[in-house]
Amino acid sequence: MNRRKHEKADLKERLRVTLEVRTDSHGMFSPRLLGKRLVTPPANQLPITMKRVPSGKELKARLLYLTRKAEFAASHYYHNPDLSPEENRRIFGKCNNPNGHGHNYVLEVTVKGEIDPRSGFVVDLKKLKETMHREVLDAMDHRFLNKEVPEFLSRIPTTENLAVAIWQRLAPKMTNARLHRVRVYENHDLFVDFYGEENDCVT
Ligand SMILES: [Zn+2]
Repeated sequence: MNRRKHEKADLKERLRVTLEVRTDSHGMFSPRLLGKRLVTPPANQLPITMKRVPSGKELKARLLYLTRKAEFAASHYYHNPDLSPEENRRIFGKCNNPNGHGHNYVLEVTVKGEIDPRSGFVVDLKKLKETMHREVLDAMDHRFLNKEVPEFLSRIPTTENLAVAIWQRLAPKMTNARLHRVRVYENHDLFVDFYGEENDCVT
């Protein structure tokens, strides 16, 4: 080998790029190219640590959470027909006014699932958007909840009950990903989360 060739081979040997694969505390895959061209002594003088790269199969098994947001405006009032007018006024205050008042609700729908290796997606985003519109927004946007949404003919349309009703509408319509959480913001300072859980604590 002539000198020039020898120098080239030596330089190649010294310039190494290390790919480090890390898994964070949530088990999320996070490849990090250190990108350092490490000028090291020749490889045969160093202990070499091989780092295993997870296979595609291992990545597929990871559970991910995806959230889509939507906004809708609706009006409501709070009233329990089993209580006296005085009790209703005491419990619900101004919200008991039967003429109602409006809110700009923000809805967050979180689904969970594995990554489809063909698409790289957890869920078909277009389908999720269509389902949210069809099942929730078309039924509730610009509606008087107490009078126009069947669930609230017999249930008080609080943000809590709204979250439950939205869960009940969406959960059966989910296809490849499962519904994980429904979050409803009544305003910036107040939101309710529902995970579809029954309360199994008997008191
Ligand atoms: Zn209100």
